[in-house]
Formats: sequence, C-alpha cells, structure tokens
Amino acid sequence: KNDDGSKDNNKPKISFNDVAGLDEIKEELQEVIDFINNPEKYNKMGAKIPNGILFYGPPGTGKTLLAKAVAGETNSSFFYASGSEFVEKYVGVGAKRIRTLFEKAKKEAPSIIFIDEIDAIGSKRNLDSNNEKDQTLNQLLIEMDGFNKNQTIIVIGATNRLDLLDEALLRPGRFDRHIYVGNPNVRAREEILKVHTKNKPLDSSVKIKEIAKKTHGFSGAQLANIANEAAIIAVRKNKTIIDIEDFNSAIERVIAGLELKHPSIL
Ligand code: ATP
Repeated sequence: KNDDGSKDNNKPKISFNDVAGLDEIKEELQEVIDFINNPEKYNKMGAKIPNGILFYGPPGTGKTLLAKAVAGETNSSFFYASGSEFVEKYVGVGAKRIRTLFEKAKKEAPSIIFIDEIDAIGSKRNLDSNNEKDQTLNQLLIEMDGFNKNQTIIVIGATNRLDLLDEALLRPGRFDRHIYVGNPNVRAREEILKVHTKNKPLDSSVKIKEIAKKTHGFSGAQLANIANEAAIIAVRKNKTIIDIEDFNSAIERVIAGLELKHPSIL
C-alpha cells in the first residue's frame, strides 16, 4: 500500500506538493503541522494538540496521500494500518495488535498513525455484537485517551462512511476533527493530472485542461491511473511520446474497468 516505496515506520518523502487540489484541506492541516512542529508554542498556552483527525469521503480521493504528506511535512514516522487487519476470529488479537502499533509509534515519535477503513473497527457498537471488534475499538479509545503530552502522536482515520462510526470515537480528545475529502472538481482534476504527467513526455496534442473537462466524476486515483495507462499504451505502441490517442484509450480502459466492477454507476 505504501506507494512511495517506504516501509510503515519510515519517514515518507511526500509533501503537500504531491497532493493536488484539496487546497482548503491543506490549509486546515497547516495548523496540525504547526502543532507537531512547534508543540511548546501550544503547550505554553495550555492548548491541547489534537489526538485524532478523521478523513471521510469516497475512495481514491487522496486520504492516504494526505496523511503521508502530513508525516512528510513534519518529518514524523508514518504507520499505516487498515481497520480490517485488526478484526480477527480470536477475541483479543485485534486489541493486542492495536497496543503493539501504538507502542511502536511512541518509540518513534513524532508519529502519524494512519488507520484506513476505520469503520471496520469503529462502527457503532450496538449494530452488531462482535466482541472481538468491540474490544479492538475499546483498546483504540484507551490508547487515544492515554496519550502523553510530551510525545506527539496523531491518529488519522479514514472512512468512506462517517455515519457508521460509533459516537465514542468522535468525542473531543479522540477523532474530533472531521475533514471531508471529496472527488476533485475540474480545476483540481487538472492539477492532479499535471502532478501525474510531470515526468512523462507529452505530445502537444495532449491538452490537460481538455482531459480534465471530460473526466467528470473521476477520483484522484482514477486520474493517476489514466496517466499511467496512457504511458503504458504509448510504450506498447513503441512510441517515444504520449499523445492524445493514448490518453483517450486510457480513459476508455479506465471507464471499462469501472463498468465491470460497478455496472450501475455509469
Ligand atoms: P481509499 O479510501 O480507497 O483508501 P484514498 O482516499 O486513501 O483511497 P489514496 O490512496 O490517497 O486514496 O489515493 C490513491 C492514489 O491516487 C494516490 O497514491 C495518488 O497517486 C492518487 N491521488 C489521489 N488523490 C490525489 C491528489 N489529490 N493529488 C495527487 N494524487 C492523488
């Protein structure tokens, strides 16, 4: 999952420059970055650093990328986990994994712990009676309540479904900042396409603005995919430069892939 090639506890080399569009979100996260970089400034004023931030919104919109960029901008260690990894058949296994994850993060602080698909452990406790899941969630709450003020650890959770989450998780001191990360508008799509074609040789027939206009509803991940597919198609045709035909084929291919997976959305 770490597409920057880093290991989980590495320091990602990703910065806000790698995240296109999402300007308001980056602005909001600037404050968090300042918290991590200058904790004394806030401690002196008696201000508490946020423990948890929740990114919610459709898949492929850059939630993981943003979390890595926060780590990159603050030179923090980055720990990636997916909520589904914690939910096991045997009661207690998930809770133990949570403890181990937080222990590692404390050793390498400042740390960002990113928990993707947090709904897998954080869904409302009365919706089902899965003891293993509830114990895992309880352990996560215990860890977040017990943060030491001298150590900066910020937990960033991501979900496609905010409405599924247990209220206890959203309380002050836990995931109390909620940030919606949505699909990009035309300007943001143009920016994302620019980031993902930066190191690719493009023919003058390729007008990024035009491609952005005809990819309404596409996520950042899908746009990244189009840029990559276009490059692969050009290589397959023995070209030395990527032209608009390659992009059109790539768009068709990505749409065809979507139709296979979700026949109803297009
Ligand atoms: P999921 O909910 O499926 O986990 P996500 O929201 O975490 O998805 P990411 O994993 O961050 O999405 O995005 C996948 C890839 O799409 C990124 O690694 C990046 O290549 C590209 N991408 C998505 N959004 C952006 C963006 N705003 N700027 C640049 N690249 C982006």
